[in-house]
Amino acid sequence: MSLANGRHYRAIPGPSETPDAVQRAMHRASANIYEGELVDLTASLIPDLRRVARTEHHVALYICNGHGAWEASIANTLNPGDTVLVPVTGRFANGWAEMASALGIEVEFIDFGLQSPMDLNRIEARLRADTNHVIKAVLGVHVDTSTSVRNDIAGLRAAMDAAAHPALLMADCVASLGCDRFEMDAWGVDVLVTASQKGLMLPPGMGLLFFSPKAAEHRPERVPMYWDWAPRANPEWYYQYFGGTALTNHLYGMRVALDMMMEEGMEGIWSRHATLARAIWAAVDHWGTDGPMALNIADPTHRSRAVTTVKIGAPHGLHLRDWCENQAGVTLGIGLGMAPPDSDARHGWFRFGHMGHVNAHMVMGLLGCVEAGLGALDIPYAPGGVTAAAQVISAAARPTS
Ligand SMILES: *Cc1c(COP(=O)(O)O)cnc(C)c1O
Repeated sequence: MSLANGRHYRAIPGPSETPDAVQRAMHRASANIYEGELVDLTASLIPDLRRVARTEHHVALYICNGHGAWEASIANTLNPGDTVLVPVTGRFANGWAEMASALGIEVEFIDFGLQSPMDLNRIEARLRADTNHVIKAVLGVHVDTSTSVRNDIAGLRAAMDAAAHPALLMADCVASLGCDRFEMDAWGVDVLVTASQKGLMLPPGMGLLFFSPKAAEHRPERVPMYWDWAPRANPEWYYQYFGGTALTNHLYGMRVALDMMMEEGMEGIWSRHATLARAIWAAVDHWGTDGPMALNIADPTHRSRAVTTVKIGAPHGLHLRDWCENQAGVTLGIGLGMAPPDSDARHGWFRFGHMGHVNAHMVMGLLGCVEAGLGALDIPYAPGGVTAAAQVISAAARPTS
């Protein structure tokens, strides 16, 4: 017997669930790329994207995933031989740094381990010591999706300012934009990197860069033509938005996704994610009062509200993921970067993705299935995590009289 038939839920940290309305908008015959609806629709996305990122600056769209947007962020700002500072709080900082290295950039790391946010004092001290301003940019990952740590990007800007350092501040918001509060202009971010398949609720396929006038002035001697953000952000002709044929069907989907986001409002989106995340944390904390489960990030103020990394011990992570997939119709995220990828220890971790199109019944269903799986698999746990989660939701959503 399996109890998995019915609507499946991929509770993984990307690609996230796409709303039915977005899927319907994308399901269409080839669009007219010369004139009319699609051309106007594309232009209409830009101001709403700015609202999502809380910026008045430039937006450049690419047909690529987050890795492509990483490459574009470097290609538009740095010359080979330049140095960047990369605070590491998980796998994704290393990924961005690898991309920079491959483009001839010198990378200097400060490693903060897999369970802590950046230590801003250490970063400030490093920048103060760089009196010749060799460091041209700081690459800060807002939410590292492997560890589920959330870094203080406004604080990172304050540390750079305190050191009076002129480097660009670049932020990876692939896992956080549209989930966790992010205010590009107020926080002094020069380049924001993101992609379509997480908080923006679309399938993978679009990379997005937001960039400040200061970042635009950093233009290196040679920008590879395809990655050049200038024509994309300021297109004279429609094809320049994408440096070729537009990402037609995604654009229809994005129009609907942004309509949904504008209707809910960014504050509403951020508080929904925050409440649902607290429900998940309450469940895991409760289960872990007996047995091996624990949240990877101990301090709630440093946790992502879109992805949660859980330690459960090998091989329980593998068994629980299999059980949820095959018995309950819900896919949990694999552990990533917490143990060597060829070791059995990697099965000691899993992740909840709770980003984008996710609500209370999805999260409560998810947690109920996990609790059932823990019982079915005889993994030690304290029953009652689901009740603890329900109490968080009750307290956050009492009717106003
Ligand atoms: C998902 C993700 C990426 C990479 O995105 P891809 O589309 O898989 O290339 C980069 N950074 C973070 C923080 C992510 O969560």
